[in-house]
Amino acid sequence: MRYVIDLPATPSLPIIGSDERFPVRRVFCIGRNYAEHAREMGATVDASMPMFFCKPADAVVTDGADVPYPQGTSDLHHEVEMVVALKAGGHDLNASQAAAAIFGYGVGLDLTRRDLQAIAKAKSHPWDVAKAFDHSAPVSALRPAGKASPSADTAINLHVNDTLRQQGRLGEMVHSVVDIIVTLSTLFELKPGDLIFTGTPAGVAALQRGDRFHAELEGIAALDGRIV
Ligand code: MN
Repeated sequence: MRYVIDLPATPSLPIIGSDERFPVRRVFCIGRNYAEHAREMGATVDASMPMFFCKPADAVVTDGADVPYPQGTSDLHHEVEMVVALKAGGHDLNASQAAAAIFGYGVGLDLTRRDLQAIAKAKSHPWDVAKAFDHSAPVSALRPAGKASPSADTAINLHVNDTLRQQGRLGEMVHSVVDIIVTLSTLFELKPGDLIFTGTPAGVAALQRGDRFHAELEGIAALDGRIV
């Protein structure tokens, strides 16, 4: 096949313990999946129906690359989140199909232009400009499932310039990973290569140019990077 312009690059993530990489197709995100974070945002958790949004695949920042401070904001926020990578898909998956679709786990930042999100919320506009901007999804190398799988006790935390900003445990999630995949599959046909950001614990705050961040999913994955 010949194209009129060069084919866009396929974003991909490194895999811990492998030379192969994980190609990214889509990035799904769940909002308000930790009650304390929902409270700090002045929102309430809807336990019956998760709130989803998306980022473009090429928003993923890999291999610890620098993250440029985005244009159009003066209030860039960090949200540390477990990231689930899918090796299989489908629609209307059941729980065992959802569990079997998981390739592995990483940790990432759902970077957010909080000032633009506040405007979007006030005007009942979509969240794209607040969430789906360039470089808005730094993600660690992935740990294949089975080698080390997260549990309810697994800690997730974020340090910025060596100061602890966010910490939580996966057991605090309102919707479990399997529940998220099952529900997403009622709305979208999931496919291999999809990433899912699974929500952030409390403690979201601003990042500045020059900040160094260290995100960790205990015993599974870690991500270091810098805002430039
Ligand atoms: Mn988030």
